[in-house]
Amino acid sequence: MSDENNIKRINPRRAYKIMADGVKRIVLGSISDFVAHEATSHHGTNKPVRTPSAPKARVLVIAHSDRGMLDDHARQALAAAAILADANTAVVVLVLGELREDLSNAGADEVLVIAELDYQTFQPDVEVSCAKTIIASIVPKHIFMPDNLIGDGDLGRRLIACYPEKSAATHVIELNNVQVANYQLGGTSLALTSLPYIVLLAADTTDSRLAFSAAAQKLDSTFANQNTAKSQKSNYTNLGMQTISAANIALEEADFIVSAGNGVDNVTTLQALAASLDAAIGASRVAVDDGKFTRDKQIGATGKTVTASTYLAIGISGAVQHLQGIKDCRHVIAINRDNSAPIIKRADLSVIGDAESIMQELITAIAQVKSSAQEAA
Ligand SMILES: Cc1cc2nc3c(=O)[nH]c(=O)nc-3n(C[C@H](O)[C@H](O)[C@H](O)COP(=O)(O)OP(=O)(O)OC[C@H]3O[C@@H](n4cnc5c(N)ncnc54)[C@H](O)[C@@H]3O)c2cc1C
Repeated sequence: MSDENNIKRINPRRAYKIMADGVKRIVLGSISDFVAHEATSHHGTNKPVRTPSAPKARVLVIAHSDRGMLDDHARQALAAAAILADANTAVVVLVLGELREDLSNAGADEVLVIAELDYQTFQPDVEVSCAKTIIASIVPKHIFMPDNLIGDGDLGRRLIACYPEKSAATHVIELNNVQVANYQLGGTSLALTSLPYIVLLAADTTDSRLAFSAAAQKLDSTFANQNTAKSQKSNYTNLGMQTISAANIALEEADFIVSAGNGVDNVTTLQALAASLDAAIGASRVAVDDGKFTRDKQIGATGKTVTASTYLAIGISGAVQHLQGIKDCRHVIAINRDNSAPIIKRADLSVIGDAESIMQELITAIAQVKSSAQEAA
């Protein structure tokens, strides 16, 4: 986005202070007496650090990044590896795609990044070849990967096919350092096998919030570069990604959701805002019960569980049943006129004010940004 427009932006990750009422407050101006969030939580200074001294073995975690970060499913695979690793085992994570975050709190002892192998650039043969080179060099005891749809599930199965002499399990829902379990017979039985060489983990198998942190030491980039896609040609011709309009995808798959609660009176304004952001529409149970939205839009304990990277909650109080449905959303932004509403504590950024007027202002601002982008093009 261009910096030439006049929209004032606040970095939601900037230093903040937790107020007496539990609300996170970002303050412009002097930040000297405010807690540096990045310094304490990302680097895990408050947690014990797991440091395998002179590791005798390694386990490898492979995952694609999504816009410079590992998503929660990938972090769960990393957490599983870190929890199962003994004092002599180092956890190496191979990140395919750009990485712009620190993985010490995610449990990585060593980090290898191959930025060129972004999941948007479909080149599975090159990914397999790079992964095999790294596997041959690291000789991991086990390989852990998230069994997802953004490339890791696919790559994991290709790797399984490359090592027919090794054991593997997909869709693993439970594991410990002896065995893994996955559903069989249409989900009516659990199949138990000994911990295999390649483990593809289903989502929510492990809690990604670890009680310890790790060194997250970046391995020599030349090591990664030796194996990169730069020198290898894929047999696939990548024709690029086509974005499906938010209106045509299931709420569970949506990356950006604009969601309405009882505080939204004008559904037309909300629909216009969602359309201008190309976001899917969700709603609280009260808004659905009120007849403003159809039942399939309901998010929460008795509705849908969503995993959007941005969830814009407008006029939603944040009752526990609603919060249950958005627990896996990466960034929550709340618009509410009550700064003591529970959603404010869950939100990464809150705008306190009237829903209708803020929505109108947002629609105007987005239109301005779009038109200046068009003029500049
Ligand atoms: C068994 C059970 C299951 C449930 N399942 C679900 C579920 O799946 N999903 C779900 O959502 N709920 C569920 N609920 C209901 C839940 O407990 C809450 O009642 C509901 O989520 C509240 O919806 P709301 O936040 O939209 O409405 P309210 O609680 O009425 O909150 C409205 C919010 O909008 C704000 N507001 C009002 N006017 C404005 C304005 N003009 N501008 C800005 N802000 C404004 C208010 O400050 C308030 O925070 C369930 C309840 C039970 C008992």
